[in-house]
Amino acid sequence: QAKQAGRDRTVIFDKAMESLLDEYEKLENDLRSSVDGELIDISFQPILSTDGKKLESLEVLGRWFHPRLGLISPDRFIPIAENARLIRRYTLGVLKKACMVAKMEFGVYPDLRLSVNISVQEMLENDFFDDLHAILLETDFPPHLLNLEVTESLFAKNESEMTETMLKCCELGIKFHIDDFGTGYSSLARLHALPISILKVDRAFVNRIGQGGETLIKAVIEMAHGLNMKVICEGVETPGQASCITQLGGDYIQGYLYAKPMATAELSMWLFNFTHQETSPKLIH
Ligand code: C2E
Ligand code: MG
Ligand code: MG
Ligand code: MG
Repeated sequence: QAKQAGRDRTVIFDKAMESLLDEYEKLENDLRSSVDGELIDISFQPILSTDGKKLESLEVLGRWFHPRLGLISPDRFIPIAENARLIRRYTLGVLKKACMVAKMEFGVYPDLRLSVNISVQEMLENDFFDDLHAILLETDFPPHLLNLEVTESLFAKNESEMTETMLKCCELGIKFHIDDFGTGYSSLARLHALPISILKVDRAFVNRIGQGGETLIKAVIEMAHGLNMKVICEGVETPGQASCITQLGGDYIQGYLYAKPMATAELSMWLFNFTHQETSPKLIH
């Protein structure tokens, strides 16, 4: 009887696995047609100086509304897109859309910067740079107003090709930000050799302010400044966190405390209010 029960469990497990795989495959197919049909939307989250008065850039974040499943987080669909080799098409679609929105809706702010997330895999494909360049030309978006956010895991592979692509981007005036800094394992020597302007401290560390997180943040800020880089702290939700980061000498803050990711219409209002503050805030270049 015990054996029978074991077998049943195996059957149940296989069925569960099967339906998980089915679900995954369905999601992958839906994603494929959504990417092609440009059904994935974008939102924008402001990155501000620690005092909240100056805007560094707007981070562009993908939003996928699935007709059956509702809103699916990029943390869930980006890995699927990477596995299905859809990520390149996806990112270039996001970039193009963001550049067009910036030009058409936010043209009154000519110094507005955008930060776009790039995946490891696509950055390693050799014509990535050409496609990127083509989009910038086509949308007439100034390359010196573009930040590309890359993660540390990027540097684990094909370092020389990576560096070459990065340098070509830098020649156009594009800047690089290291995203989720502290969660990977990049060595200082490596980072130093690459054209990086900003480190983004992962929100896991901001979360732990008060329980030791500040020690790491302090070290990152000192190191970054020593290497002529700036620091953005991500996921800042409380005034306490913001004042701690300010005390430690952090440069920029991104998080719900100052602004959430917003769709285009909402961002228009936000930008209007922001630029009409009495203290005359600035767009930083
Ligand atoms: P990320 O680049 O580190 O983006 C920051 C994430 O933190 C965003 O989640 C943002 O909504 C969230 N966030 C911002 N402020 C706060 C806060 O105060 N509290 C909390 N709890 N969260 C905050 P989102 O939009 O879900 O994106 C998740 C990740 O998906 C991004 O992390 C990025 O790695 C990836 N991603 C998003 N859009 C794209 C894209 O277009 N291309 C690629 N390759 N990756 C993307
Ligand atoms: Mg990012
Ligand atoms: Mg991040
Ligand atoms: Mg992240």
